[in-house]
Amino acid sequence: MDIDKIKRASELIKKSSKTMVLTGAGISTESGIPDFRSPGTGLWENTDPMEALSTTVLYNDPEKFYSEGYKMLLGMKDAKPNRAHLVLAEMEKRGFIKGIITQNIDNLHHKAGSKYVLEVHGNTREGSCMDCGKKVPLDVMTQKINEGQIPPKCNSCQGTLRPDVIMFGDMLPEDFSIASNEASTSDLLIVVGSSLVVSPVNYLPQMAKNLIIINKGRSAMDHYSDILLNGSASDILEAILEELVEE
Ligand code: NAD
Ligand code: ZN
Repeated sequence: MDIDKIKRASELIKKSSKTMVLTGAGISTESGIPDFRSPGTGLWENTDPMEALSTTVLYNDPEKFYSEGYKMLLGMKDAKPNRAHLVLAEMEKRGFIKGIITQNIDNLHHKAGSKYVLEVHGNTREGSCMDCGKKVPLDVMTQKINEGQIPPKCNSCQGTLRPDVIMFGDMLPEDFSIASNEASTSDLLIVVGSSLVVSPVNYLPQMAKNLIIINKGRSAMDHYSDILLNGSASDILEAILEELVEE
């Protein structure tokens, strides 16, 4: 690990009066959830997530949606936060960061104890009725599916239920406009584990005054970064926190 860069990163964090963190699927690979774009992991090679988790499939082929896409969501349910999630929760507690903007839907920032989390691609805790908007816990939806009700139906109006995950073809939730506002008023944005190819989230890194990118592979915004740290999210974040608390 490049100690000099770790030191520079922690200096930037100390100097910044407002820092937000933007996380992607790469922060959760060490919790056993595969990302979309790391080459060679092969875990989802039989299912194309972009297709299985799309509104086109949900509307036109609900059987396929609930047997393939929805199963991928359930696969995240028992995952546990890793050191990277825990360090970010600690950094918020100690006032080094204001909060997290996450593209992830795996709930691991909440499980790690982070308080201010903007979920710009939705979550896997709830679903809602496509007709009347009524919310239901995802577990209730899953129970209906397990009982053979595909697609699952709303108890109030018999409309079709769907998970509250933002899929290809969906509009972004309110959290995204809050996130844009937070990013554009930040001194520093730290990106962790994202290829930054998914739009419009990948506009956020250009909004903050300074940018740190922590990622194993290359990202589409590497050239915008003030400090680029390539490697494991948990190793790098741990080293940064150690540097921050050392006096
Ligand atoms: P991505 O798959 O496009 O990119 C992940 C990046 O993380 C890669 O560049 C990879 O090199 C890096 N990476 C992998 N393991 C790492 C590690 N241990 N430490 C540091 N970096 C690591 O992910 P994305 O940019 O978030 O875009 C994928 C989209 O899919 C997002 O919109 C997200 O909502 C969704 N998704 C979510 C989850 C989840 O909730 N955990 C999982 C897969 C996909
Ligand atoms: Zn309804």
